[in-house]
Amino acid sequence: MSFRPLILITATTRRESPDDPARVRLNGAYVDAVARAGGIGIVAPPQPVSAAEALLERVDGLLLTGGEDVHPALYGAAAHRALGRVTAERDAWELELVRVARRRRIPTLAICRGIQVLNVALGGTLIQDIPEERPSDLRHEQAAGRSDRTHRIRVEPGSRLATLFGAGAEVNSMHHQAVDRVASGLQVTALAPDGIIEGVEATDGWWAVAVQWHPEELDGADSRLFAALVAEASDQPRR
Ligand code: MN
Repeated sequence: MSFRPLILITATTRRESPDDPARVRLNGAYVDAVARAGGIGIVAPPQPVSAAEALLERVDGLLLTGGEDVHPALYGAAAHRALGRVTAERDAWELELVRVARRRRIPTLAICRGIQVLNVALGGTLIQDIPEERPSDLRHEQAAGRSDRTHRIRVEPGSRLATLFGAGAEVNSMHHQAVDRVASGLQVTALAPDGIIEGVEATDGWWAVAVQWHPEELDGADSRLFAALVAEASDQPRR
């Protein structure tokens, strides 16, 4: 590939202790997956939301990564007692990135927290804690290693996801939240056997593909998700 698109990869900031400065944190597997697909990753921690437009003008694709819970106030809910760590700056930053990316038609791949951010940005809601709100025998916070595939998904025929995965796949699972009410502008593309939503994508022609599992830890068809993002980002007019 001669043209190597720039992919904005979201990250978080965290203090290791009260005395520690806030440090940028990202699982390097995301950067590696983009690089293997032929893209160049640019890591973007939370910044003032006014930077989102200027930043997305200069890149070709957006990758929303895993991480903290989205604050339920952002979808009009009270905090459940099982709500995990939330980060107001990251919420605000990533919601703005989604709004700008949608308007500018920036190809977007959203993973784990990313599928949740995408859904909330477009007006949907989340399950705050699957064991509390949708109890079943299926463990979405798997005890196995990050690259172990522990549950099945069924993929919606005709979806962008189906072109990569066919009718279904085995995936890893490291989440306690999930999409609840799906935002208008999105459609469900993958379901776990217990009915938990594992994939959505945009219905209005915007290339926005979102999965609840962690393809950056996997190979095979999962690496083709990153290849698909890079291919779409390469097709964009140069900015
Ligand atoms: Mn799962």
